[in-house]
Amino acid sequence: MEPDRRILHVDMDAYFASVELLGREELQNRPVIVGGDPGFRSVVTSCNYIARKYGVHAGMPMTRALNLIPGAVVLSGSFARYKTYSTRILKVLLSFTPMVQPTSIDEAFMDLTGTSGGIVEKALEIQKAVYEATSLWCTVGCGPNRLLAKMASNFYKPKGAGLLMPDDIVDFPAGAIWGIGPGTAAKLEMFGINTIGKLRSLSRGLLKSILGTGGEEIFRYARGIDDRPVRFFGYTEPPKSMGHEHTFTRDVSLPSEYMPALAAVCQKTGFRLREGKWLGSVVTLKYRLRNMKRVTRRRILAVPTDQDQTILTAAEDMARQHIQEPIRLIGVSVSHFVPSENAQLSFFPERTVELNRVADRVRKRYGEKAVVSARSLEYIQGKY
Ligand SMILES: [Mg+2]
Repeated sequence: MEPDRRILHVDMDAYFASVELLGREELQNRPVIVGGDPGFRSVVTSCNYIARKYGVHAGMPMTRALNLIPGAVVLSGSFARYKTYSTRILKVLLSFTPMVQPTSIDEAFMDLTGTSGGIVEKALEIQKAVYEATSLWCTVGCGPNRLLAKMASNFYKPKGAGLLMPDDIVDFPAGAIWGIGPGTAAKLEMFGINTIGKLRSLSRGLLKSILGTGGEEIFRYARGIDDRPVRFFGYTEPPKSMGHEHTFTRDVSLPSEYMPALAAVCQKTGFRLREGKWLGSVVTLKYRLRNMKRVTRRRILAVPTDQDQTILTAAEDMARQHIQEPIRLIGVSVSHFVPSENAQLSFFPERTVELNRVADRVRKRYGEKAVVSARSLEYIQGKY
């Protein structure tokens, strides 16, 4: 059965150890451990599958690993080399689709939704292409979402490829679910819940009462439900917020005293938003009173913005309304972003867009203070 969404999880097999073994045929059949100097309380970073058979695993103290395999070959890691190979692998994956989201140096999700042919055949094709480019093996897990694709790459490891659907995981241990660590697994075990199938018998409410807010997610994951998207390569997570603040040389309370600084921080914030290509929907004004107490006020905008003037209008309004006593600091931040390329074109484009575009160009060439608004002039002059 072919899933609707076609998500792949590519996971390199014993990555660091495998890179170290490239071109070193003489070590191919020996237990190999990558990690620091054994005398220096170091831990195992990676090991090959021969070493794993003896119970060695990443994160184990090196001294313990060497007790398990006294004759093991210990190699110190060469991070630059892992990085080089990682780039090479990424290039191979990107030749299949731009929908590649690396999650670590040796793992990436791919979204092949909408392509034709068997998904497992595609996975084998990718695995072969990676091997041909690097002489390194990976396992490619397939599923209808990230959760199942990742479980599949764990399940079919090493040198494997295969699909897991929600019905395939009922007999898996509960700990195989994303988000169930050893602690949570032990907690569930006390309730006799050791498999995903048994986990499914628990109601949403009961799971939440056992696991807290994380219970909701576990409820869905246990059923193989996971809506998280795979991002295209180069996607950057929006920052939580962007803002600036200014501490006054002496406490101020009049709008004429704090407005230049407020105009200046709004201008800096707008500039950064435009540079990052984000539009924000919430403007937060913050200020600190004489007794150090911090106050914040927020306003939701009708249309997300990256314009200094719009941010300032909202901030000024809040300041005039709320600042009733001397303050020592004022600041503004903007949050709840949407990428500006994806923004719907407004029917009433902000008048300042072109002005700011030109001002930004001048600032990038001649410095931040080359163009300032008249309102922030006294701030630039260092009056407050
Ligand atoms: Mg790996």
